[in-house]
Parts: sequence; structure tokens; C-alpha cells
Amino acid sequence: LQAGLEKLRDEPAETLDGVRIPLQVNTGLMTDINRSIERGAEGVGLYRTEIPFMVRDRFPSEEEQRVIYREQLAAFAPHPVTMRTLDIGGDKSLSYFPIEEENPFLGWRGIRVTLDHPEIFMVQVRAMLKASDGLDNLRIMLPMVTSVIEAEEAQHLIHRAWLEVRDEGLDIAMPQVGVMIEVPAAVYQARALAQRVDFLSIGTNDLTQYLLAVDRNNRQVASLYNSYHPAVLHAILHVVEQAHEEGVPVSVCGEMAGEVGSALLLMAMGVNALSMNASNLLKVKAAVRQVKASFTRQLLNEVLAMDNGEVIAAYVDLQLDKAG
Ligand code: PEP
Ligand code: MG
Repeated sequence: LQAGLEKLRDEPAETLDGVRIPLQVNTGLMTDINRSIERGAEGVGLYRTEIPFMVRDRFPSEEEQRVIYREQLAAFAPHPVTMRTLDIGGDKSLSYFPIEEENPFLGWRGIRVTLDHPEIFMVQVRAMLKASDGLDNLRIMLPMVTSVIEAEEAQHLIHRAWLEVRDEGLDIAMPQVGVMIEVPAAVYQARALAQRVDFLSIGTNDLTQYLLAVDRNNRQVASLYNSYHPAVLHAILHVVEQAHEEGVPVSVCGEMAGEVGSALLLMAMGVNALSMNASNLLKVKAAVRQVKASFTRQLLNEVLAMDNGEVIAAYVDLQLDKAG
């Protein structure tokens, strides 16, 4: 824990003028649970379910998955735990389910894989639902959605899984279902998606990669990977506005949520929750508690009028330094 920050564990992330924002964590490994609780996380905004799949040499059974998911849900209850359905493909592969492609980031990834293999999806969703028995803090999130058709198909399968576990005698509430906004198509479908789901969560890691056409893992172009690029900032603002007009909350679970400057801009845009690596949580909380929301809104208005991402990044740093 960062020295001096641990005293903030049980304090709210609230600005000097009284605006609160829940700070949640991204998890994947079992060890993330304790690190997160120690830092006072208000739930999980992204549980990367592919991680327990990646450390095995075969697909975990429904019962194995149920046990793993139960630990996450029980550790954070009554706070929500947002479980993302399997997000393999791209840079994440399973040794026992190889995917060979020329262009993996534009290929068979995330929801595309699981809708083509509903048996994998159904086992996973059934395990999540069973794990939530008596806790009611499960939220299910769909990765890499590019169209309303994918969201509808997945929701249909989730509903079927829910009917199945109820038929088996478990009295489980239907969880909230949301989609990740992480490809440009979803940005321009934000309203239509919001009309169909309970929440949106912006994955700024992939959204930056796909908006800027910059591979997030390629060092050669790393200097072009900039989440302060105006295209990224305006895309996020568009999503927040469209979703809010539909009365649907929006969170952010990409790295932007865990960096002080971008976290404050996201808060100013009206994002409803920030989800980050546990190691960043107290740092972001300290920053939120040191500023006025009016300061962050002014900073946002200034940067939205700028047209150069590098200048924006430098400007945000400068203003934060000045503010102490
Ligand atoms: C993202 O794309 O921003 C995200 C949170 O998901 P991942 O990093 O797992 O792709
Ligand atoms: Mg992603």
C-alpha cells in the first residue's frame, strides 16, 4: 500500500464540493481479492473470467467455475461484482482452444467466439448464476460487442440459462446484463445498446486501440497510443451522453480509470463508476478528494476544445501540478 494513503480506505471518493463516484476494481486472480478489499474497493467493475481459464490446461467444468465465481461474489458482497463472459482471442489465447489468425485483434474474439460456441457460454453463465445464489450481487458483462444482434443473442442465452437453473430449483434473481463499449461501432450504437441492456462499461484499452488503429501491444507504435486523443475523449463523452439520455449508467474499466488525470476527466463527463487495478485505487481516491468537481468540469471543457492529444496530455498534467 502506498504510504500515507491507507487511511483513505474507508473514506468515500468524494470531491471537495460533494460529488461522489464509486471506485471499483478489475480482478482476475484470486490474489486480487485481498488487495482490493484492503484498499476499500466498492465492488468489481470488471472480473476477467478468462484468467482462471488461462491458468488451466482444459476448460474448467461448470462446478469448478461455480466455486471460483462464488469466491469473487462472496468476497465483495453486498457490492456488485461485474463478471465479463469469456474474452479470448486477440492477445489472449487458451492452450487447449487454439485460435490461429493473421489479424487476431480483428478476428474471432470475445462475444464472437462464445456466440459461435453457445455450449461454452451457457456453462459459464449457469456457473455464474449458481454462484450468485443468496448473494444477488452478480452483473454479467459482454465483451467486444459490435452490434445489437450480438447483445440480443447473448441476452437470450442468459435468459435461457436463468430458466434452466430456476428449473433446477435455485431461486436466483435475474442479474443485470451490460455490454462493453470497446469498438468504434459500439460507440455509434451506444443509444441502441443502452435501450437493450442495464448498463454500459467503456473498455478504453481496446477502444483506444481500435479508434486510433494502434495495436495496444506493439512497441513500434506505442507513442501513438494515447487515450487523451480527442477522438477517444469525444467518443467517451458521446457514449455517456447517449446512455444517460436512456437512463442507463456508464462505467469505465480500462486503464484510463486508474490514472489520475484521465480519471478526473471521466468523472467530469458524468461517468457513474470507475474500475481499475487495485494498485491505483487509493491514488485516484486521494486525487478525487483533493479537487472540486467544478475544477474537473472546467478542465474537461478546456481539453474538449483542443485538437491535439499530446498537448491535451501535457495540459492535464500541468493543471494537476498547479492544483497540487
Ligand atoms: C479494455 O479493453 O479496456 C478492457 C478493460 O478489457 P481488456 O483490457 O481485458 O481487453
Ligand atoms: Mg477489452
